Amino acid sequence: MLPVIALVGRPNVGKSTLFNRLTKSRDALVANLPGLTRDRQYGQAKLNGQPFIVVDTGGIAGDEEGIDDLMAKQSLQAVDEADIVVFMVDARTGMTAADEYVAEQLRRQQKPVILAVNKVDGVHAEAAIAEYYSFGYSTILGLAAEHGRGVSALIDTILDNL
Ligand code: GDP
Ligand code: MG
Repeated sequence: MLPVIALVGRPNVGKSTLFNRLTKSRDALVANLPGLTRDRQYGQAKLNGQPFIVVDTGGIAGDEEGIDDLMAKQSLQAVDEADIVVFMVDARTGMTAADEYVAEQLRRQQKPVILAVNKVDGVHAEAAIAEYYSFGYSTILGLAAEHGRGVSALIDTILDNL
């Protein structure tokens, strides 16, 4: 069995962008619309020579009704299947209630979590990251999935935490 990485977070933080970069594919729909990936999407990635399964998810929005509820269930199922979780947040919007909701859901799971603060391009990265220290994760990284910044550090961190 290959190790499994789950990408979770509220909609629109850049999960599918990171999925496409890690799997070197365009399989995941990327758009400036929350909630585009309704189901879990699986892809293969080779990170520093180590093969992985990467799972993209629709996101956990917090106001769990109808389709959002289904997406949240899918996301938590992906966490359940994962060996490691990359929890993504958005440096541009800053922390939201939905991020806090995701953090709360993840605390119930005993999985290693890497917190990736995405979209640090064009913002003060250190300040954007510092806002999330209160979540209490020992592993927190700045990322710009769209531009590739921080992706190799993320890969190293994933491999270190397996
Ligand atoms: P998802 O809903 O979490 O899967 O998010 P997407 O991957 O679909 O991305 C949502 C939006 O954020 C899209 O418009 C992306 O182009 C944009 N985005 C993703 N990564 C970055 C990044 O590193 N920097 C910036 N500025 N925008 C990004
Ligand atoms: Mg997506």
